[in-house]
Amino acid sequence: MYEHYKLIIKLYEELCNTLNSYHPCPNISLIQKAFSFASTAHAKQFRKSGEPFIIHPLKTAIILANLHLDTETIVAALLHDIIEDTNFSCEDIDTLFGSEILFLVEGVTKIDQLTNHISRDELKSESFRKLILAATKDIRVIIIKLADRLHNMQTLDFQSPHKQQEISLETLEIYAPIAQRLGISALSCQLEDLAMKYLYPSEYTSIMNQLTKSKSKRETSWKEIIFELQNVLGQNNIQSKVTPHLKHFFSIYRKTIFSNESCHIDSLYDIYYVEILVETLKDCYTVLGVIHQLYNPVPGRFKDYIAIPKSNMYQALHTTLVSKNSGKFEVQIKTTEMKQTALYGILAHWRYNIDSDKFCNSKIEKAQWLDFIIEWQLEFKNNRDYMELIKNDFNLFSKDIFCFTRNGEVRQFPLGSSAIDFAYAIHSDIGNAIKYVLVNGKIKSPEYILCNGDQIEIITSSNAKPNIDWLNHVKTSNAKNKIRKFFNKEKLTDLKISAK
Ligand code: MN
Repeated sequence: MYEHYKLIIKLYEELCNTLNSYHPCPNISLIQKAFSFASTAHAKQFRKSGEPFIIHPLKTAIILANLHLDTETIVAALLHDIIEDTNFSCEDIDTLFGSEILFLVEGVTKIDQLTNHISRDELKSESFRKLILAATKDIRVIIIKLADRLHNMQTLDFQSPHKQQEISLETLEIYAPIAQRLGISALSCQLEDLAMKYLYPSEYTSIMNQLTKSKSKRETSWKEIIFELQNVLGQNNIQSKVTPHLKHFFSIYRKTIFSNESCHIDSLYDIYYVEILVETLKDCYTVLGVIHQLYNPVPGRFKDYIAIPKSNMYQALHTTLVSKNSGKFEVQIKTTEMKQTALYGILAHWRYNIDSDKFCNSKIEKAQWLDFIIEWQLEFKNNRDYMELIKNDFNLFSKDIFCFTRNGEVRQFPLGSSAIDFAYAIHSDIGNAIKYVLVNGKIKSPEYILCNGDQIEIITSSNAKPNIDWLNHVKTSNAKNKIRKFFNKEKLTDLKISAK
């Protein structure tokens, strides 16, 4: 028991130290109050591991402190299991900590209650929807839930095998995609890897063994490539930081599925990338020019996510190069700011940042994110569509396709989308009136499957009408909804005419 007590104190100190390291004016007395209240409330409870329960909210709070979140979020994390697991009520939290913290704690509790009381199939969509609804009011509710889930995944060994499968599947299907959609790779990568460990244990071990086996070979080629890159960038007077990074297990696993059935890592370039951090956006392109002169780029592997950011705002230049001695390797070029966005996504814009004053003037960026999520939510009215959303737009193995409008605007679609998806993404009136499609200037049918980089122009006609068969040729829930809506409306008109 004494050991547990020592650990709890150590974790509490870690929490305060972390908070002090980034927060300009942390309210430590409020943290202290929440910690002692939660300790008392959970006093007689223990985790499956045999540890006192309070360790769970403490660890959840530490995960959030490492993401540089505000005091309220951390207090709410300390209190997040109180309503559900103890005799204290919402009123108690309101009286002791005020309405803002109550709102956050209640939000997390609601998500938990949903996952406990709804059937497995419905749960996926319903909890997802509630999560999003909560997010539109306050994204911090979701961030707390993600941190809570991360700690539960980290301690999953103590659960029964059945529970391990269930919780891991839910993590991979719901929570990791949400973290990814919000751009928080600092959370999504860990969630994916932990879930993979339980869902695909042999593949997990296989990748781990292969990584161990190739370690010395990898480190030799790293040394050589980093040396060459630093050299040439120095010669060109570019301030940069060049570092090698292993990709996370689940992304390696996904790649091996794409290339072959057996979980085999073919080449080193599948498993790591070299990151070049520079100061300005212009430097990114300068670096690209310099390294494309030094090494041969692999055709078709260059991606400009600066000009065309991913939907979660990720920006960088990606290219794959060939080195004489080490073979193919991937390079990612980013500014420090892009790197922050790559790690923290939505959080990058309002987490505390000592280097800049961003926290104070991030209202506009917050609003943009909010618009983005509301838009995302409005598209889907009932649960079945939410399921489709998860299965299609968020398919774990899908990749995005980028197309251009006639004016050169960029649109993004899930892999396998057709020109019909494209038309409905522009406007339902355009979708409902497609006559034919011009793909890079050539006439195609509306069912044409979009390819990366296509320029699409939809030619409409007032006599044209959607075809019910289009439902089999669209990928986005948006197009499906709008086609169904058209035919529902038509049915209604027919009924009215026959009633007359
Ligand atoms: Mn919890």
